[in-house]
Amino acid sequence: MQCNNFVRQLDLAPSPDSQDPYFTDVTAHLRVCEACRAKMSRKLDAERAIRMTMESMAPVPETLLTSVISATRAVKARRSRWRSWTAIAASFLLVIGLSASGYTYWKQSQTEAAVERLCVLSIRNHEVYHNPEFAVSDLVQISKWLSGRLGHFVKMPELLSIASATGARRCVLGEHAVAVVNFEVDNKRSSLFSFYPSQFGVEGVITPPKFEMGYTVAVWDENGVGYSLVSEAPVEKIKAMFASGHMRN
Ligand SMILES: [Zn+2]
Repeated sequence: MQCNNFVRQLDLAPSPDSQDPYFTDVTAHLRVCEACRAKMSRKLDAERAIRMTMESMAPVPETLLTSVISATRAVKARRSRWRSWTAIAASFLLVIGLSASGYTYWKQSQTEAAVERLCVLSIRNHEVYHNPEFAVSDLVQISKWLSGRLGHFVKMPELLSIASATGARRCVLGEHAVAVVNFEVDNKRSSLFSFYPSQFGVEGVITPPKFEMGYTVAVWDENGVGYSLVSEAPVEKIKAMFASGHMRN
């Protein structure tokens, strides 16, 4: 069997019908060898799964990462010389190359990206909609109404003190139906979105009020309930409404 001669190229080839002259031998071999075709297809499936996970910004399951790292470690040992190829599937190598600290860093930057995305979604929603479906100022009534509207208990935050609301509505943020409470701070419009932190990949996140895209925004996870706040009031004004030291920094 000549399959062993193709181990390295098989690992690097971006597809079974790559036009890159470097892969001519292996693509020719793939046309006649069923075993290597199966190997190739498993490799492409793994790459695709990783790419999709990375794009979705969901955390990569530890098992997937471990399986890829251990699988490639065996392959790596056989490589005598490492050549850099732009044709290499970048996402695949990115994951192989991740050390433990690299993985932590990647996860952290992923959370930052998730917070950023959530802020943008919240700001866009705040900009577009201002008419509450339920125009009531009492927060207890709002909580009840939203709970019925969303089919699960919608809790008001304890860290942020809102004296009274201008109303509430249900809205779609990204792919999820979430609750929104509208209120004013010195006549400046503000929207407080409430959701499950896992829906947006912001579990355990605490992002104190900051200025972003012309608004004051904040994101936090309060005992398993996620909140994102968009306000037209200044950052300092919003910070003063928080009970927690974390959120005032
Ligand atoms: Zn073969």
